[in-house]
Amino acid sequence: MKVITGGVLIDGTGRDPLTGATVVIGDDGRIEQVGRIDSLPKGAEVVDVAGKTIMPGLIDCHVHFFVDLKPLHELVAAPVSLRVIQAVENARLTLDAGVTSVRETSGTPIGFKRAAAQGLIAAPRMKISVAPLSQTGGHGDMTLPNGSVHPLLPYGNPLEWPNTVFDGVDGARKAARLVLRAGADFIKMMTTGGVLSPSTEPHHTQLTREEIATIVYEAKAQGKVCAAHAQGTEGIRNAVECGVESIEHGIYMDEAVIDLMKRKGTFLVPTLQAPMASIRRGEDHPGSVLPQSMRKAREVVDIHRRNVGIAIQAGVKVAMGTDAGVGYHGTNAEELRLMVEAGMTPMQSIVASTKVASECAHMDAEVGTLTPGKFADLLVVDGNPLDDIGILEDKSRLLMILQGGRAHKNTMERA
Ligand SMILES: [Zn+2]
Repeated sequence: MKVITGGVLIDGTGRDPLTGATVVIGDDGRIEQVGRIDSLPKGAEVVDVAGKTIMPGLIDCHVHFFVDLKPLHELVAAPVSLRVIQAVENARLTLDAGVTSVRETSGTPIGFKRAAAQGLIAAPRMKISVAPLSQTGGHGDMTLPNGSVHPLLPYGNPLEWPNTVFDGVDGARKAARLVLRAGADFIKMMTTGGVLSPSTEPHHTQLTREEIATIVYEAKAQGKVCAAHAQGTEGIRNAVECGVESIEHGIYMDEAVIDLMKRKGTFLVPTLQAPMASIRRGEDHPGSVLPQSMRKAREVVDIHRRNVGIAIQAGVKVAMGTDAGVGYHGTNAEELRLMVEAGMTPMQSIVASTKVASECAHMDAEVGTLTPGKFADLLVVDGNPLDDIGILEDKSRLLMILQGGRAHKNTMERA
């Protein structure tokens, strides 16, 4: 048994912080008690965290462990095995940043998730979508006009990464079934163009409503849900109306679609970091971001921030997601600061990155809040992020990172 005691508790539910709080963790890695307790259980390993903050591990609803924006010649020449080992490193960097769970929005195959579950690699808990469903020439089709394929994702093995580029209702049905067979926990689809794909624009509408509805039907038939990369207004509306549960990016949301998302309870995963990060990467490493992608990122960055702010004010359910892979892996906590700059309170940004994110990822039965019965995925932070949300970006302030009660990182002395 492990006891963490004396800290300021932010439990992830949005409740006011509680001083002098204790979290009791059982040998099964689950939380047994949380709050102010009269006497500490005997024989437990006690960690005194007076003056520190105890909060749930962060949950990032939009990451790509297998995406690294590197110069094209490096990506083209990289063997799949190298990409896998790089992804292992990316997952560890994510956990080092205090992100204890993720929704992996395409690229990560089932074997990688199993390696993490078996403890072979240090990685966040994950829900995966394996490969994104896209129309021919859509955001998930990385074929260049000359027929060569942009190697953004290492789609080398057709079994682990099935071909999910299709057209028509029958094609949609087949692609959905292929990706579910390959181990997808949820289906990611592209209902608009985007910034990084070579020949689309963010406002382009992709997939027909019949195709989207077919994918949603096939997911639901196997107890799964759908997320849509959706940036243009019409593609966002099509996804929401056809029953997609989460809108990724949402750049050109208008008031009508924001209202519709609010009424239907659709999640927004803003990924405010993504356009900024594309620009930053392209400037740091010329040749790693296509010129048309740099142009598109610059076109959308301000309107994206503004429309996410409108959605926050309107009360749309916002779940934190960064699009890590587009940005540098391990810089996930920047998104909380960006959400605060877009109009959230620091507490709202924490709830979006814990409780709401766990609901969006369908992991809320296990993690997301510090509640008895859930896994002890938690952080001990030097300082209080409610006073300055930016401290979460400083890894030296993450004094403890626990996953299921086990320390991924622990710089605290035992009492
Ligand atoms: Zn993405």
